[in-house]
Amino acid sequence: INRKMAPSHVLRCCQRGLAWIPVIFIALVVCWSYYAYVVELCIFTIPSTGEKIIYLVVFHLSFVMFVWSYWKTIFTRPVNPSKEFCLPKAEKEQYEKEERPETQQEILKRAASSLPLYTRTGAGAIRYCDRCQVIKPDRCHHCSACDMCVLKMDHHCPWVNNCVGFSNYKFFILFLAYSLVYCLFIAATVLQYFIKFWTSELPDSHAKFHVLFLFFVAAMFCISILSLFTYHLWLVGKNRSTIEAFRAPVFRNGPDKNGFSLGFTKNIVQVFGDQKKYWPLPIFTSQGDGLIFPTRLVTTDPEQPTVVLPPNSFRCGAVLNCYHLGAVVDQQVF
Ligand SMILES: [Zn+2]
Ligand SMILES: [Zn+2]
Repeated sequence: INRKMAPSHVLRCCQRGLAWIPVIFIALVVCWSYYAYVVELCIFTIPSTGEKIIYLVVFHLSFVMFVWSYWKTIFTRPVNPSKEFCLPKAEKEQYEKEERPETQQEILKRAASSLPLYTRTGAGAIRYCDRCQVIKPDRCHHCSACDMCVLKMDHHCPWVNNCVGFSNYKFFILFLAYSLVYCLFIAATVLQYFIKFWTSELPDSHAKFHVLFLFFVAAMFCISILSLFTYHLWLVGKNRSTIEAFRAPVFRNGPDKNGFSLGFTKNIVQVFGDQKKYWPLPIFTSQGDGLIFPTRLVTTDPEQPTVVLPPNSFRCGAVLNCYHLGAVVDQQVF
């Protein structure tokens, strides 16, 4: 019927294509680093066969783990809330017709009464996404880049062109860990040849420039990844997402930044699973379904009073942007 593509559709396609640029950039750097390390350093530069073999074995181990976890972080689709969190048809129509936010809240409250929800908006209202038309489960946020509600959303990461959330948070941590191992190993083993080239102990060849760049690029990535990795390890220990670290989740009795924390060990087990042998592998072993999370409050105080909404406290449509090391988090605040 429509022969021409709508301009908005073309724009959307362009945006989707452009979003892959950081991933392609990383992939090219990784391919070059592979060539430079294996061919230029190990085959052309290192004279000792024993050293060659050890370096190549360790290099390939860290390379495989790094690429595997990167791949899983990129291609594991974020999960959106299940059907139970959508309003039933009648309620949805009623909600859309209704103009007073107080009455809309009543509709949401009725629908949410059967759902396991412990968090509210800052104003004490049920968290609802108008875009996806879904009641947001705890820790779920709307990502404007993915245009969907993402379970336990952490942040939208341009370097993996994907949302980091419940489905791939373990993979993301492992991706940071293995990229750090990969860069550290390269920097540590290249260093002596880097110095030898500078002090002219090795003959001038085109390998020289590859070795020089290998060291600089590996060292540079080490520094930038280390801070992000340390930050995320801290978050895992505290059981907080990046979003929750910026703004504490609001429970029925107010904001509590430690609301989901169950203690250091349990927090780690929630992300990595209870079987330690799977911790280093990018295989999904996180606990739960991403919809319900155990909270400190529920276990200590199962019968909390329901909060009465103060009148006119319902704000709509404000958008909060959190920028964190190149990651953009768009979060709708109601
Ligand atoms: Zn949404
Ligand atoms: Zn996203």
